[in-house]
Amino acid sequence: MKLTVLKCPNCDGVIDNAEGLNTFFCKYCGHKIIIEELTEAEIKANLALKNMTYKENMQKLKNEAEAEKVKSKNNQTLNNNLFTLALLGMSLTALLLMMYLILKYCS
Ligand SMILES: [Zn+2]
Repeated sequence: MKLTVLKCPNCDGVIDNAEGLNTFFCKYCGHKIIIEELTEAEIKANLALKNMTYKENMQKLKNEAEAEKVKSKNNQTLNNNLFTLALLGMSLTALLLMMYLILKYCS
């Protein structure tokens, strides 16, 4: 019997089938697993599925990194906007203070 990496259909734990038994229990959840002889087509399908999952995971990681980048960029823009707003507020306050002083001492 060929050794293949198998996963428990119940808990997705990796099954160590070193003894090559056809029927055994999952060491993680105790689920009873029956191994049937896999046809070559099934093995290929399993491999294709694994590759697909790997690719999907890589794409997911990439997307997450991209989203993080956009988020940090947005934060930077927000900080810049806040800084501009604070500067504007300070300028306005200074202007009002000047006007107040001018009115006070020129009348
Ligand atoms: Zn299990």
